[in-house]
Amino acid sequence: MSISAELFDQSQQCIPGGVNSPVRAFGSVGGTPIFFERGEGAYLYSVDNQKYTDYVGSWGPLILGHAHPHVIEAVMKAARKGLTFGAPTENELRLAQRLCKIIPSLDQVRMVSSGTEATMSALRLARGFTGRDKIIKFEGGYHGHNDALLVKAGSGALTFGSPSSPGVPEDFVKHTLVAQFNDLDSVHEHFEENPGEIAALIVEPVAGNMGCIPPANGFLQGLRDVCDKHGTLLIFDEVITGFRVDLGGAQTLYGVTPDLTTLGKIIGGGLPVGAFGGRKDIMAMLSPLGPVYQAGTLSGNPIACAAGLATLDVLEKPDLFASIIAQTKKLTQGLRALADKHHIPMVINQVGTMFSFHFTSDAHVHSFADVMRTDAEQYHAFFHAMLASGFYFAPSAYETSIVTLAHNNEVIDDTLDAFDAVFESMKMRVA
Ligand code: PLP
Repeated sequence: MSISAELFDQSQQCIPGGVNSPVRAFGSVGGTPIFFERGEGAYLYSVDNQKYTDYVGSWGPLILGHAHPHVIEAVMKAARKGLTFGAPTENELRLAQRLCKIIPSLDQVRMVSSGTEATMSALRLARGFTGRDKIIKFEGGYHGHNDALLVKAGSGALTFGSPSSPGVPEDFVKHTLVAQFNDLDSVHEHFEENPGEIAALIVEPVAGNMGCIPPANGFLQGLRDVCDKHGTLLIFDEVITGFRVDLGGAQTLYGVTPDLTTLGKIIGGGLPVGAFGGRKDIMAMLSPLGPVYQAGTLSGNPIACAAGLATLDVLEKPDLFASIIAQTKKLTQGLRALADKHHIPMVINQVGTMFSFHFTSDAHVHSFADVMRTDAEQYHAFFHAMLASGFYFAPSAYETSIVTLAHNNEVIDDTLDAFDAVFESMKMRVA
């Protein structure tokens, strides 16, 4: 039995399902999760001494790869001064200044400890500011495990949300309306049916939790326009896309400025951080200035902020971000050529440093419905074949893959060689 399997056995005794976040359990792909001991650059090393090239990147934060020396040094330096004070520190001020400078919509920003907290707080603020209760989210959009956002629509669009988890009372989600990503009509219908009642519309501007789905031309601007028309706040959840599709997030890439933005992952450089921010008049509603309460003992933690600042130091170097995008394109173009060579029907989506590949003979994957039509079983076979070759992709067909600064030419070439071999074996099985 491998050490990972032994540890997983033990974990299942004291941690529900043996994991602290469900997708880690390999539930959909089958098999036993790998326990990792360390990461370095583009590579992960398991407790069984296996080396894996990593395309999960801890689900997004690791834009510089694992254990980047500049980030580690900043963390050590900050830790030596104390781990938390529960009082203001200069690190949080400097990170807030940097975020406000880089992200167009941020006049002000407040730090929290996770993406879930960021979206929960942004929604409360939007409701407090507008005095309205209803919100719109998109099917297949994930914004953390807040009650009000943990809603998948049923098969029909334009229905009131029903909770996707026991423990979330119907009453808590009765104000959550679900629309379809890349379908403005489904959004307009909610506004027509609920005039003057919708506080906020929250969207991942590039969907990152059903693969990587780019917004259709005009979709984000259409959301901006309809929100303006109805006095609804537009919230971009850039927990994944912030510093990943563009240094200034999707709002810079697509030139559409939301009222509020939620951030996480990369801004903590690998430590637990989230943030939400936006227009000054809206942020002024927050406690202690205004009546909307929001707080956190570890919010703005000095070590997490030091890691975030160090990450930005590296990311803001001229041309560096563009070079990570170029590597991502090199990989996806190579992948396209290999899929064609092996006659494997596949759609590949890529935005910035995010990409996803879907086993499907459809011409494109633009929506939740498109994603649901893709062949998840094929992905599972692919996942295990790549894992056996030493490449760690997400253990789910519906996640985005990521490229980091550490994915240099050698890493990308090795990955393409592995794709080539795995596709060859898959082709034989399909035939
Ligand atoms: N928003 C988006 C777009 C996410 O992808 C996630 C997590 O994956 C969250 C929010 C929640 O962040 P966290 O897991 O840090 O609570």
